[in-house]
Amino acid sequence: MKIKNHLQRYSISTLSLFSLFFSTLIIASNAQAANATISTTRPKLVVFLVFDQLRADYLLKYKEEFVKNSSSKLGGFNYLLENGSYYPYAEYNVLQNMTCPGHAMISTGSWPINTGISLNEWYDKETKKTVYCVEDEKYDRSPRRLATTTLSDEFKALDIPSKVFGVALKDRSGIMLSGRKADGVFWFNEKNWQWETSKFYKDLPTWMGPYNSKISKIKGEKKWLASKWGVEATINLGQEIILNEKLGKNKGTDFLFMSFSTHDIAGHTYGPNSKEMKELTLAEDLQIARFMNFMRSKFQLSKDVLFVLTADHGIPASIEYSNLNKVEAEFINEIEVIEKIYSELNKMYSPKEKQEWFSSFKSLHYYANDVVLEKLSINKKEFLETCRKIILKQNQLEEVLIPSSFTIEKIINPQLRAQVDNSFVGHQWGDLILVPRPYSMNKSQIVLVNHLTGYVYDRTVPLILVGDAFRRQTFYQKAYIVDIAPTVSAVLHSLPGAKSDGRILYETFRN
Ligand SMILES: [Zn+2]
Repeated sequence: MKIKNHLQRYSISTLSLFSLFFSTLIIASNAQAANATISTTRPKLVVFLVFDQLRADYLLKYKEEFVKNSSSKLGGFNYLLENGSYYPYAEYNVLQNMTCPGHAMISTGSWPINTGISLNEWYDKETKKTVYCVEDEKYDRSPRRLATTTLSDEFKALDIPSKVFGVALKDRSGIMLSGRKADGVFWFNEKNWQWETSKFYKDLPTWMGPYNSKISKIKGEKKWLASKWGVEATINLGQEIILNEKLGKNKGTDFLFMSFSTHDIAGHTYGPNSKEMKELTLAEDLQIARFMNFMRSKFQLSKDVLFVLTADHGIPASIEYSNLNKVEAEFINEIEVIEKIYSELNKMYSPKEKQEWFSSFKSLHYYANDVVLEKLSINKKEFLETCRKIILKQNQLEEVLIPSSFTIEKIINPQLRAQVDNSFVGHQWGDLILVPRPYSMNKSQIVLVNHLTGYVYDRTVPLILVGDAFRRQTFYQKAYIVDIAPTVSAVLHSLPGAKSDGRILYETFRN
């Protein structure tokens, strides 16, 4: 009996030992599988290529006309399209798509409610001044209004050697991408025709002196910034930084953020369906091809370099183009809208004396003049509701939002509600926000076409991730731009920005 018991016990324990051994094997093989998806070596250089206003369909439309890839010469957009994980329709999900918030979302992985950057500029009721997203009282320009950290800020916190540089014609693009810890961010000063930086960063590196004086001798014209010259100049400086700072040749992982502002400057002038934009996009492709071949001459491309290509926002068709195609788009006549509000408000609240009812109108945000409301003891909530009704009666708009009275019931449209949720930055927003109908826009004397909405044409952009970590595949899953920072950070074994909202696009990882 004893022996039997012992045997039984023995066999049970053998069994459990066996199963323990077996399950350890399973765990070990699972661990191996997990290891296989996460490479232990980091890329030497991370390069972001952000095209300002490159709507999703540009790459799809002109693919056949882009430079073809061959073993002797790499293509431009085609190299990236054919060698990485490609989301043709990646999205922003915000109320108004524009440059400064777009670049901040790319680098931080956060929606504007967490980056604190919902607009390029806004009216500050306290100081009664317009504030620009990268303006800084102390340093002139800086990322200090960004309310979180970026992916390269977090990487630098790992104490692994890392250099971070940013380049763009527009200061806000380079600054928002490169974050607080950047070693250098350069943007273009069109007055003295030179690249410049701010005191927030280190002084211009010594090699920039001779480089800048070479450029300033050209004495170019402002319109060049909207031509392929702007793209070429941005790539040239990117390559100069790689060579002079030995990016990708240092011990850790370096970052180069390049944003191509030219695409946006030209797109506003000509509209996305113009022959000028087609010519520019093909010229950009040649420049990217030049860059890719330069990179191949310096690095083992897929092993050493991780490329990200995306855009900060899209663009609608011009009103004229929409009308020709029977889309009833129109310019919102804001002067008429404002005159109507003023005359009705004067009649209603101040028949004897005309009042300045609003302090500022900016990017479809209307900032009420609180001094006048107080002086006349007008209930602000009622006042705003009245204004909303007056504007909607003119039948030009999709919706007029009153941010101070946001409740779930107030915004019934779930798409609009999600965009408001993601974008809300109270102190930057007006008391009223005008939401245009699809393809309609506010009239501007400076630009032909404008992007100020959350509609598909303004919010949909390409996303390509290239490097050893990523599959060569096209993905149609939902991908948001805030997913970029957590995904790249996962490959680098670092953290995304402190308030990251995105998910890791793990379907792109190679097994
Ligand atoms: Zn723009």
